[in-house]
Amino acid sequence: MFKTHLAIGFLVGLIAMHYIQPSNQVLFMILILLGSLLPDIDHPNSTLGRKTKIIALLFEHRGFFHGFLSIIPLLFLLSFILTKVQLIAVALGYASHLLSDALTVEGIMPLHPLSRWRLKGFLRTGAFYEGIFLLGVVVIDVIMLWRL
Ligand SMILES: [Zn+2]
Repeated sequence: MFKTHLAIGFLVGLIAMHYIQPSNQVLFMILILLGSLLPDIDHPNSTLGRKTKIIALLFEHRGFFHGFLSIIPLLFLLSFILTKVQLIAVALGYASHLLSDALTVEGIMPLHPLSRWRLKGFLRTGAFYEGIFLLGVVVIDVIMLWRL
């Protein structure tokens, strides 16, 4: 669910800002949140994938875009328009999405297309379990914001 990815991305953003201290914190956070939604571009029914159906048709869901190698061409393309700190923000958001999907029972193929080896966890997506997980992340988000 994209809400869960946003909540986790927000948490990663809060932690990263503490260390990186970007000059524009709002932009830094927006880029992390965008990065955290980007991998689901390969999912025809995701919030983002519905608008880019062609990519979902060409690429397997949780295939290339859910592997860490996809970050390389992505950052290369974005390097023409973004600064180094902004690229770090996108990469962090993107990686946070992959790592959270890796915690689910469906898992991801981190080395796709080199290997179809799957990294899997025990979390179930959708409905009840993800709702509880999301609530937990949001509570941590709020506590961290409070302490800033
Ligand atoms: Zn995903």
